[in-house]
Amino acid sequence: MTRLTFAVYGKGGIGKSTVTCNVSIALARRGKKVLQIGCDPKHDSTFTLTGFLIPTIMDTLQAKDYHYEDVWPEDVIYQGYGGVDCVETGGPAAGTGCGGYVVGETIKLLKELNAFYSYDVVVFDLLGDITCGGFAAPLNYSDYCIIITDNGFDALFAANRIAASVREKARSHPLRLLGLIANRTVKRDLIDKYVQACPMPVLELLPLLEEIRVSRVQGKTLFEMAETETSLMYVCEYYLNIADQLLTEPEGVIPRELADKDLFNLLSDF
Ligand code: ADP
Ligand code: MG
Repeated sequence: MTRLTFAVYGKGGIGKSTVTCNVSIALARRGKKVLQIGCDPKHDSTFTLTGFLIPTIMDTLQAKDYHYEDVWPEDVIYQGYGGVDCVETGGPAAGTGCGGYVVGETIKLLKELNAFYSYDVVVFDLLGDITCGGFAAPLNYSDYCIIITDNGFDALFAANRIAASVREKARSHPLRLLGLIANRTVKRDLIDKYVQACPMPVLELLPLLEEIRVSRVQGKTLFEMAETETSLMYVCEYYLNIADQLLTEPEGVIPRELADKDLFNLLSDF
């Protein structure tokens, strides 16, 4: 039985996949068997783990004419760096499909392959804002939600909407918000204002680092880069710290999001 499942959300481009890949490795370093499921139509969630864009579940199912019995684990589950297993859902049909369908089909297939429950940790890496119930679907399978943000208005606005989704899903399912990870920032004044108004933990503060930006271009995680550049081990410590917090199975919170106008007032300086 899977012991820990969590979903990572946040504004587009904020650093969700970068954080997720490195935290997955950190969890594997702590002895856990980890599956990372990329749920972004961009299908690049696991890119820095595998070094290439792996075939998506949607592409594979289409190629097999939706005959689930013809799909083998090795068609859709790829082993990435550090022993982390990787899956990409792929996207729904542009403009007409549904994100919930894609996530549902992925989980159905992984269950049929006896894979879904064979991991200690399953991580969902999502796309930007939760625009519809479909892309909130991974929350139905998760113990925790983690939100990535920076110290700016747009990312905190997205965070507040994600918090609302968690509050809603927590009504019918034992889901908790683990907290915020501040990424690409050393300043946290707006983040602090927000968490004072809408209480939730701040798990980590990751600065903007050239090495992290470059890691995406190189198709490597910080852990892989640190093999040859040991001075980068200090960056890995940030991700290990997040993993260790997850493994203590913290209580988390059920957030009470702010009304939009209250959020505007809180974060405006005029
Ligand atoms: P998302 O998954 O939220 O869309 P990504 O993880 O793909 O975002 O990150 C977007 C870009 O930002 C990538 O090129 C990544 O290398 C870069 N990036 C992420 N975090 C940092 C950071 N702390 N410092 C510098 N660059 C970062
Ligand atoms: Mg991403």
